[in-house]
Amino acid sequence: MTDSLAENLACIECGAVYPLTYRLECDACRGLLELRYDIAGLRAAGPGLFAGSGLWRYAPVLPIADPAHRVTLGEGGTPLLDCPRLARELGVRRLLLKYDGANPTGTVKDRSSATAVAAALRFGYGATSVVSSGNAGSSIAAYSSRAGLRSLIFAYERASAPKLLHMAATTANLIVYKGVYDDLIKIWDRLVEERLFFDCGASRNPYKQEGKKTLAYEIAEQTGWAVPDVVVAPVAVGETFIATARGFREMREAGWIARAPQMVAAQATRANAVARAFRDGGAITPLKIGYTVAEGLAAGDPGKKGEWVLRLLRDGKGLAGDAEDDEILETQRRLARVEGVWAGPTGVATLAVLTRLLAHKQLDREQTICAIISETGLKTEGEPPSRAGIAFDFDSLRRLVAERLA
Ligand SMILES: *Cc1c(COP(=O)(O)O)cnc(C)c1O
Ligand SMILES: [Zn+2]
Repeated sequence: MTDSLAENLACIECGAVYPLTYRLECDACRGLLELRYDIAGLRAAGPGLFAGSGLWRYAPVLPIADPAHRVTLGEGGTPLLDCPRLARELGVRRLLLKYDGANPTGTVKDRSSATAVAAALRFGYGATSVVSSGNAGSSIAAYSSRAGLRSLIFAYERASAPKLLHMAATTANLIVYKGVYDDLIKIWDRLVEERLFFDCGASRNPYKQEGKKTLAYEIAEQTGWAVPDVVVAPVAVGETFIATARGFREMREAGWIARAPQMVAAQATRANAVARAFRDGGAITPLKIGYTVAEGLAAGDPGKKGEWVLRLLRDGKGLAGDAEDDEILETQRRLARVEGVWAGPTGVATLAVLTRLLAHKQLDREQTICAIISETGLKTEGEPPSRAGIAFDFDSLRRLVAERLA
């Protein structure tokens, strides 16, 4: 395996540079930190640098130098699905779906869990913790178990039954908390300072966020380095959006792609602090939120990362939008029927927002647009169809088949 080209951590506010230690913010200004790489090295090596499959194929652009720390459950390498039928329905020239429900625990979180837990090993921690609406919890628990680490998972009381089952199976320490993500995250983030566990939260840890950058590298490779015009990414706290945008930026700086895609931030209307600030042109006002079917997007206060997303949107000519719960559920059904992709409500929020932006003519229809579908539908809770079974004889069976397929 190739070495990591990560060089240091840099403050996104004041530019202060730090070595690659476990550090969550800038000493000088408390700004968030991001990883920086040897871009000249990337440029010189070219994409031939990558070898192997899955997420760790991109190890040169990830911050885990020692292969022994690279924990895996087979994440990454998810399909990029060309969807001509759905594209026709939505009225866009070409629609690509990056289906991250194909990851080991069924969500995009496995990308960040791989680098978070690898970093916990790198920095010698024996335990991890996270505050979650369900997906991060099951993913961090699974990767921690896989790495032989203990985990302490704080789960949303309204998480779906499949998500709760998944977490209960993968961690020995599942704690259900009262209220929404915002109610616990601030005090949990303070506790991170005591270093009783490795920070697997979304607020600050630059090593965790980094794994999600591989979305951009995969999309670029899967399109033969002719990246889509537009990429729609979900935003809860902002890791996926920020990391994907930076992956494209690195490839552009390295000269691997001619230009970075326009980035669109997608939120649920019931948790739309970033989209709202983008529309109003002001700063983010934290929202007091209730339930949204897009459980994974249920954050009313995205904190400093939300401000970072907003800055990327404004500097990069991006776009933001949101979709109501009923539009999200309608999109979930439509995607399953039209393309055979059964994704969760959180996972299709991007597509629901894209549908709306196209209907409102906020995006040019003559483009290639890629939406990140971040979650499988197999973690969705709902009423199953009726279990009242029909007893058939040959004639009644033949009648039904003829009727249904007429
Ligand atoms: C967590 C999550 C997201 C987005 O979260 P960010 O913190 O903004 O990266 C999107 N989709 C799913 C399925 C998730 O679980
Ligand atoms: Zn700083």
